[in-house]
Amino acid sequence: MSERFSPKVVPLVDLRAGALPVPAAASQPGERITANGLLTDTLGRNLRDLRISVTDRCNFRCSYCMPKEIFDKDHAYLPHASLLTFEEIFRVAQQFVNHGVQKIRLTGGEPLLRKNIEILIEQLAKLRTVDGTPLDLTLTTNGALLARKAQALKDAGLRRVTVSLDALDDTIFRKMNDVDFPVADVLEGIHAAHAAGLGPIKINMVVKRGTNDQEILPMARHFKGSGMVLRFIEYMDVGATNGWRMDDVVPSAEVIQRLQSEFSLVALDPSSAGETAQRWGFTSANGVHNTQAGEIGVISSVTQAFCGDCNRARLSTEGQLYLCLFANQGYDLRSLVRSNASDADIASAIGHIWNRRTDRYSELRGAMSADTGGGARRVEMSYIGG
Ligand code: SAM
Repeated sequence: MSERFSPKVVPLVDLRAGALPVPAAASQPGERITANGLLTDTLGRNLRDLRISVTDRCNFRCSYCMPKEIFDKDHAYLPHASLLTFEEIFRVAQQFVNHGVQKIRLTGGEPLLRKNIEILIEQLAKLRTVDGTPLDLTLTTNGALLARKAQALKDAGLRRVTVSLDALDDTIFRKMNDVDFPVADVLEGIHAAHAAGLGPIKINMVVKRGTNDQEILPMARHFKGSGMVLRFIEYMDVGATNGWRMDDVVPSAEVIQRLQSEFSLVALDPSSAGETAQRWGFTSANGVHNTQAGEIGVISSVTQAFCGDCNRARLSTEGQLYLCLFANQGYDLRSLVRSNASDADIASAIGHIWNRRTDRYSELRGAMSADTGGGARRVEMSYIGG
């Protein structure tokens, strides 16, 4: 048995069928909620950020996300008819925006595998926030198809991209993506995105102890002064297939410590409310942030929960609304959209679901059984969207 597929790996639990119904109150006269941009949940959190998973398929098999042993040739991906169509995604997204969403991120799976994704981007780019400003429309990709698609994405109206890149060392990178994909091709994709003006580009590196933590410093050296923001992500206990163990997590505090062995860094203020990353700037000799050298970020969802201002909703590939990355059930918006519901009905449903939101998994994780994150049945990230 390989080190990657340890006995800790839990077989895939298919949670995709167990959607929650939309609250009945949403369609009852007198209880309808109209979108006015002011929606809050039970903890007073607004709805500002929507992540849309456009496919549950991926061309990589990163062991921490879609391990090959589970997502093999026999894995049952969603049939095409289950996926929300572009028209359906647009219709739902429009109501989210009416409720106050300012940022939409397309994700997956690998979003660039969804055929004609540019058409969806073109439609979403037309949406305006409640204040009348264009959306912050972005996409997270593994970069494999980016060199080919960057210009078309920009032309369609995409504003920027986040590229996942776990190592610069080709051997480590190929091992992590587990499909022998060369790092040079992802770097070419990043270059193409930069040339197309899809910036500021963010680079996400998931750090797994003993797998790629030796790449922390080389990655920081490479992206310092590039105008791109490298972010180190703590390996998370999402899904049920990656055999997550606390021992594999490199806490952000340790990442910063390792960076400080070579670079001088200063903590920066958040650039927006609900920001997932803590920002650190490279400094000049006088200790002041050197904006030319740029900044890095750390995303500490394991060691420092940031549920308190979480303003993110997730729309799964088949139209379920998830209120937390670690949730095990979503609300079935697709059935509503495929009934004869009006836009106002969809808006009311979203309003009722968000109003009831209590989720704060990362804050509660610590109180669950140590090491496994409670062994909860959580939906896979490739399905819900990262
Ligand atoms: N395929 C696209 C990509 O590679 O960016 C988008 C989907 S992927 C699920 C989104 C992000 O989630 C990637 O940056 C990936 O590294 C991250 N991710 C997946 N599983 C993770 C885990 N267990 N812990 C932390 N980050 C994870």
